[in-house]
Amino acid sequence: MKFDNTFYDQMQGFYAEVGPEAPPSPELLLFNTALADELGLDLRDQNKAALFSGAEIPAGAAPLAQVYAGHQFGGFSAQLGDGRAILLGEITSPSGARMDIQLKGSGQTPFSRNGDGKAALGPVLREYIMGEAMHALNIPTTRALAATTTGARVQRETGLPGAVLTRIASSHIRVGTFQFFAARGQNDQVKQLADYAIARHFPDISTSDTPYLDFLRAVADRQAALIAKWIAVGFIHGVMNTDNMAISGETIDYGPCAFMDTYDLKTVFSSIDRQGRYAYGNQPLIARWNLARLAETLLPLLSNDDDTAIQLATTIIDDFAPTYEAAWLAEMRKKFGLISADGGDADLANDFLNLLAQHKLDFTTAFRALTSSSEHPNLFQDIDAFANWKARYRARCAGEHKTKSRALMRANNPIYIPRNHLVEQALDAAQSEGDLGPVKSLLTRLKSPFDDTMVDTKYAQPPATVNSGYKTFCGT
Ligand code: AMP
Ligand code: MG
Ligand code: MG
Repeated sequence: MKFDNTFYDQMQGFYAEVGPEAPPSPELLLFNTALADELGLDLRDQNKAALFSGAEIPAGAAPLAQVYAGHQFGGFSAQLGDGRAILLGEITSPSGARMDIQLKGSGQTPFSRNGDGKAALGPVLREYIMGEAMHALNIPTTRALAATTTGARVQRETGLPGAVLTRIASSHIRVGTFQFFAARGQNDQVKQLADYAIARHFPDISTSDTPYLDFLRAVADRQAALIAKWIAVGFIHGVMNTDNMAISGETIDYGPCAFMDTYDLKTVFSSIDRQGRYAYGNQPLIARWNLARLAETLLPLLSNDDDTAIQLATTIIDDFAPTYEAAWLAEMRKKFGLISADGGDADLANDFLNLLAQHKLDFTTAFRALTSSSEHPNLFQDIDAFANWKARYRARCAGEHKTKSRALMRANNPIYIPRNHLVEQALDAAQSEGDLGPVKSLLTRLKSPFDDTMVDTKYAQPPATVNSGYKTFCGT
């Protein structure tokens, strides 16, 4: 690994230098060969179990924990930071992409507060599975390079096997990173961070006359595109706190996340989200709220005049809603196989979604039924209202190129998503029996979510009975 650590070199005061804890007996469980190849990593002669558990610090690494703040469920915490994650450093892939390599679950840092700095095997595997599934669905995301066990147990409600996830991200700068310095009135640091983020993620902006305004707009645009993609596959992040929103526009921090089975805008899985703040259908609104928090941190950089700064920032936050709507409509057109644009497309999409909600239909299989047989999707046979919708849809599709339209649908309506019941079964087998078989089989399916050459119904079907009380847990 050839490290070139710009955050370490340029951003003193934004982190604490701290290394991982040495685990007692590390073992490699999963290694992402495809990702390693993409990153240009040649680790053939290396001890991967040691490297990806924190037992061995690779040459050139400069381990650190980043500081940040964040709004958690709407309440501000001025002092957060990597409590159980260590950034080893940055590498550049053969394609020229600068990537962070981070160990998650490798022990305490100065920002651990009351936490043990550790991660249990289940959540590490969940993050691995979810991140890889999102990547295969063409959704920007951090990724998992490796999962190791430490040989130590971590104490939760019970003792659980300890594990470490190696996370790859185009950076770990969050909305909360800006908030940490803004909350302390350290505007020079906010500027330094913005300059760093612009250089790293939006180099085109660096020569602009209004770089910080452009930066805010660029981050907002990426979030609009990202959330539209989440909505289009039924993904629920579960804990969209400002410290879990990456400036890069990648999905980050797979805690209590899940994919929706039955279509319902109010779907919540996280055990701690009792108010439904982060419900499926609320995610665009929350993204906008989080962006408003980012905008607040940038105000001093936008203008010397407070009113002007607020006005400029407000324009961008106001633009988020139409930008998101356009991104959502573009995603929907792909799902419905519409290459051309028509003024009635949003209504057509919403009416279909409303039918799914009324009849409690499975989101993923409904779109796939439309894809594989738009003439006779048998999923909807019994529903009269659907016949009316289908007539409208057929009329709308009449002008589209049939083959191209079908190809678009097949590439945008997945057969395989990480279904909750499958993820639970797989994690259970790994945690209680040490059997990684189900995790690996699931990962294989999720790697090719659109592959319809031989549909594997076990992985394609929704559960026989949807567990509406399904809960996911975070921070474990
Ligand atoms: P999250 O809800 O995963 O975004 O975590 C919120 C904050 O709690 C972050 O600053 C984490 O680093 C920290 N944290 C979560 N779990 C632990 C843990 N087991 N030990 C120390 N810090 C943790
Ligand atoms: Mg987090
Ligand atoms: Mg987390």
